Amino acid sequence: ATPTALMVGTGRGAQLGILIKGPEVLETTRKVDTIVLDKTGTVTTGRMTLLAVHTADGTEEAEVLRLAGALENASEHPIAQAVAAGATEKLGGLPTPEDFANIPGLGVQGIVEGHAVLVGRERLLAEWAMELPAGLARARHEAEAAGRTAIAVAWDGEARAVLEVADAVKDTSAEAISRLRALGLTPILLTGDNEAVAKSVAAEVGISPQDVIAEVMPEDKVNVVKRLQAEGRSVAMVGDGVNDAAALAQADLGLAMGTGTDAAIEAGDLTLVRGDLNAAADAIRLSRKTLGTIK
Ligand code: ADP
Ligand code: MG
Repeated sequence: ATPTALMVGTGRGAQLGILIKGPEVLETTRKVDTIVLDKTGTVTTGRMTLLAVHTADGTEEAEVLRLAGALENASEHPIAQAVAAGATEKLGGLPTPEDFANIPGLGVQGIVEGHAVLVGRERLLAEWAMELPAGLARARHEAEAAGRTAIAVAWDGEARAVLEVADAVKDTSAEAISRLRALGLTPILLTGDNEAVAKSVAAEVGISPQDVIAEVMPEDKVNVVKRLQAEGRSVAMVGDGVNDAAALAQADLGLAMGTGTDAAIEAGDLTLVRGDLNAAADAIRLSRKTLGTIK
């Protein structure tokens, strides 16, 4: 393509809400055949709500909300914000943790009112040799079967509760994914969340169950991209989180949600300003037009 065509393409991109880092990016955009989509914050809104609290025998809901809410209040994760907001709404206020650590892809741990508290995936509890009692395991299973995310709460060495949170699919995602497919790309859903939740989101937006890659640790997202590239695919990755930055940089084309973190935006080649996946389809179309594959 001529420099003029590339400049026109870049300018047209800006009008469509697509910020392109350099004119050469359009060249890679045209070639991608696979598009990896992060789930939380990319395909879904990332605005989660606390829907239910299931407690173990002898555990008070208010205590679960106070201890888990206090810890999650110190984290910026979308799940943490849902738990903290739900707890604040019910209790009015929350204590400040004496100690706090974020464990990426697993949850949070810390000390609240003298109790050692864990909030996160069941796997986080397993690392401390704790498991959910039968009643809570059942609640977790039912929540996940309904497409919700189940979060475990433990303190002082015992699993005490399961929290249900849910996140809505963006109303633009299904349309955008069908447009990407029509442009010849294979969409793949990639997430740290569990398989059942991931498959229910996939079904809602038209991604095949075999193209769902779930329960991936943040540092392994980049390896998923590498593996697809090793299969000979030309890979675009769309993401919004700090945990997506390495994968965005590794992908042949990194697309960052403009509504996401600075780390993702810096790592991407393209920014979808409005956080609407339709702009990804627009970018592919624009690159093909600019570079003369379609008129
Ligand atoms: P995604 O890849 O979908 O953006 P993450 O890698 O951030 O998700 O998190 C993966 C999983 O780890 C979440 O679905 C949740 O089960 C758990 N998790 C992570 N952070 C937290 C937290 N602060 N509180 C509770 N659970 C968490
Ligand atoms: Mg995300």
